[in-house]
Amino acid sequence: MTENILSARFDKVDSHTLQSYQADGGYLAAKKALTEFEPSAIIEEVIKSNLRGLGGAGFPAGRKWSFLPKNTGKPVFLVVNADEGEPGTIKDRYLITKDPHALIEGIVITSFAIGSHRAYIYLRGEYREPFYILETAIEEAEKAGVLGKTPFGKQYPISIVIHRGAGAYICGEETALLESLEGKKGFPRLKPPFPAVKGLFGCPTIINNVETICCVPKIIKKGSKWFASMGTERHGGTRLLSVSGHVEKPGVYEAPVNISLKKLIFEHAGGIWKGRKLKGVIPGGISTPILTASECDVPMDFDSLAKAGSLAGSAGVMVMDETTCMVKALYVALRFFAHESCGQCSPCREGSGWTFKLVDRIVHGRGKIDDIDSLLRIANNMRGTTICAFGDAVPMPITSYIEKFRDEFVYHIQTGKCDLAEAEVKGKEIAYTHR
Ligand code: SF4
Repeated sequence: MTENILSARFDKVDSHTLQSYQADGGYLAAKKALTEFEPSAIIEEVIKSNLRGLGGAGFPAGRKWSFLPKNTGKPVFLVVNADEGEPGTIKDRYLITKDPHALIEGIVITSFAIGSHRAYIYLRGEYREPFYILETAIEEAEKAGVLGKTPFGKQYPISIVIHRGAGAYICGEETALLESLEGKKGFPRLKPPFPAVKGLFGCPTIINNVETICCVPKIIKKGSKWFASMGTERHGGTRLLSVSGHVEKPGVYEAPVNISLKKLIFEHAGGIWKGRKLKGVIPGGISTPILTASECDVPMDFDSLAKAGSLAGSAGVMVMDETTCMVKALYVALRFFAHESCGQCSPCREGSGWTFKLVDRIVHGRGKIDDIDSLLRIANNMRGTTICAFGDAVPMPITSYIEKFRDEFVYHIQTGKCDLAEAEVKGKEIAYTHR
């Protein structure tokens, strides 16, 4: 049996208000944490819950908190990564819009656990409505004594600052986010030192995703054992999965972390639209390797998807039906990467640009058969040679699309056209369908 632990309140029209949140038992966990728990006991509870970072990396949240150095004499900061820029991912927007107080409560508990008095929420710049909702919720929480100098009567000041991004995908990378928060260009930093040791303004900093933080009150309220009982041995709880593309019912679904990808698509999201067949799925956002229809019967937890040759990433599930041209799909992905590379590292800056240009000419009928090997070679040279994971992410779609759909690339190059476009000429549905 599964409980909807994050999305249970999404259907209520006033779910974003303090009144509604408190009516459903909101802030009891924060009160309990601040008045009954020692900070170390909260960290221990989160470690036992097997909560993992749900922004994409999947690192165990409690363990990350435990890495903070003690007694440095510097302030500790909590930074919430709400710069949800991974194409195909909309779960954090849902959480902030529908249940902002769950995020605030999670911040209060986490701040107390890690010894932080100031939390920053780095919010994606395009998220205007979530910004206003979150701003109002913070004001409500301050008035209600949940935030401020003495939350729940405890002498432990906690304040939250919202910082709006300016539209750069790379600022979702945690160290680029810190640079941006400090008022600088969003350039990722070399690691180590990791943010837990030297983060925001050179101080120890914990960075967690919105969804990760929203799980914390539930763990404190119902216990780590309950949370860990959902999911796998190494990954507890449920996950919000953003399903988009060629399905009957696109949307955000909550399911145990190890739900089968096939079940998610065919039972929750209503199956492939217009009665068509499934062709491929990107399971964790645009930078994760594509899976073919026959590879989709796989659990969606971090470990299982990695074993299957892809990644759970941000759980942005993008579904493609049989009419999708995979050359065009890769073209769209690479156009995005070429535009969003921050340009610090030559392999990423040049590699994302070159690979985009190569696929661009294949799509437009000017490709050469050697271009396929060039794409694979450039992708291989990008891996492990860059400052941040962006340089490792770009090669994933390139290699997986070519390995799994090589015939389509060869056909494009040899004929200068798309066989799916021919289907359109014959009166079938259009090839490059977008909803
Ligand atoms: Fe910038 Fe790409 Fe280097 Fe990351 S890998 S720092 S995005 S150039």
